[in-house]
Amino acid sequence: MDNTSFPASDDAMVIIGAGLTGATAAATLREEGFTGPVVLVGAEGQAPYLRPPLSKGFLAGKESEESLLPCPEKWYAENDVELLTSDEAVSVDPTARTVALSSGRSLSYGRLLLATGAVPRQLNLPGTDLQGVYYFRTKTDSQRLHLELAGGGRHLVLIGSGWIGMEVAATARELGNEVTLLGLEEVPMSAAIGPRLGTVFMDRHSEAGVQFRLPASAKEIRGDDAGRVTAVVTDAGETLSADLVVIAIGVVPQTALAEEAGLTIGNGIQVDSGLRTSAEGIFAAGDVASALHPVTGQYARSEHWANAISGGKVAAQSMLGRDAVLDDIPYFYTDQFDLGMEYSGYGALTKDADVVVRGSLEDREFVAFWLREDRVVAGMNVNVWDVQEEIQDLIRSGRAVDRAVLTDPDSDLKTA
Ligand SMILES: Cc1cc2nc3c(=O)[nH]c(=O)nc-3n(C[C@H](O)[C@H](O)[C@H](O)COP(=O)(O)OP(=O)(O)OC[C@H]3O[C@@H](n4cnc5c(N)ncnc54)[C@H](O)[C@@H]3O)c2cc1C
Repeated sequence: MDNTSFPASDDAMVIIGAGLTGATAAATLREEGFTGPVVLVGAEGQAPYLRPPLSKGFLAGKESEESLLPCPEKWYAENDVELLTSDEAVSVDPTARTVALSSGRSLSYGRLLLATGAVPRQLNLPGTDLQGVYYFRTKTDSQRLHLELAGGGRHLVLIGSGWIGMEVAATARELGNEVTLLGLEEVPMSAAIGPRLGTVFMDRHSEAGVQFRLPASAKEIRGDDAGRVTAVVTDAGETLSADLVVIAIGVVPQTALAEEAGLTIGNGIQVDSGLRTSAEGIFAAGDVASALHPVTGQYARSEHWANAISGGKVAAQSMLGRDAVLDDIPYFYTDQFDLGMEYSGYGALTKDADVVVRGSLEDREFVAFWLREDRVVAGMNVNVWDVQEEIQDLIRSGRAVDRAVLTDPDSDLKTA
């Protein structure tokens, strides 16, 4: 094993995880004027890319590989960022301040960012290793599934009724495939947005021909003698024939490196609101980090695109010793058929909140607000645009609102 330290410099910034968080952190370090060594360690064999299109336009074959890149591939070399695309970090020594890579190299760091993201939760069932059964996270997963779905006429069974399951269902159906979706909830996505609003999306899918089995769980995945999937058996004893199966039952944060290095873990790598871990000089951001939110006073992990960008920026500033805080209101979006949605808010505060609606659920053009003691804690716009700033202002203000004004589509949201 080659133990040469590379780079040798003590002021090196090392980032583990070449996803959107890692790429954003590297770009921010350079934008903020840092001129020392920056190393971005990735294991996927690719330059960093965006995942949201993987279940939408890219899966549909409408978006190019190039459109997925947060920075053009040449950006890294041009900005003197050492991008290692196929070298997994295998251990971190917080005392010696080194990272060991699978290639045998050892990197010294002054500051280290863990941006290792998340991986699909595995389904512990017979048959998950059959041909035609997919987990869904990477560009390669999306490219493989596209090849299977692009010609239409296949029968896809989706296991999981969350965002990714519903997005893949919509795209597969638009490509002319039969789609059956099963999940543990009675209504898709109700863990995040509740059954009443989840029904709006479910109805749109049903209208387009997506079949639902809810609540239902998969008990067995069956295959033929050639090892190719043929069916999914549900807990109700139904056998759903399947040419393809996608398992999308959530993700788990990749905390192994941090755990082995003795960092504090709690549903992700625990960090303060400046994204500092429990170890001196080590930071964590993106899907892997459970960050203390200065407004809610709670630790929360956000598995969304906007958090990867904001987290990457704040982490880089903290690494440079700046007084940065991640205090964004969590934000995410989805596109399913002709439904475009954006959501901002504190998910943890929406439990038992009142939901009020401005606009029409029937017409699928509305803004829903979650209210606690008349204060807006979250808001979601569906096929209504340019209202996120107002929604976030209402949440941030923490003031009591007038429900009549809030729910009247003709009134100015700022006056609610
Ligand atoms: C199909 C799909 C659709 C999505 N759609 C939306 C959407 O519509 N809206 C939205 O807000 N969000 C969406 N998301 C979520 C969003 O993409 C994620 O929140 C974001 O990718 C998180 O970025 P990250 O860099 O923190 O983690 P990741 O994207 O998981 O990147 C982490 C990287 O670290 C690498 N890595 C891990 N361990 C090591 C190691 N030891 N050594 C080297 N490299 C390592 C991994 O291989 C990976 O490349 C979607 C995600 C998926 C998968």
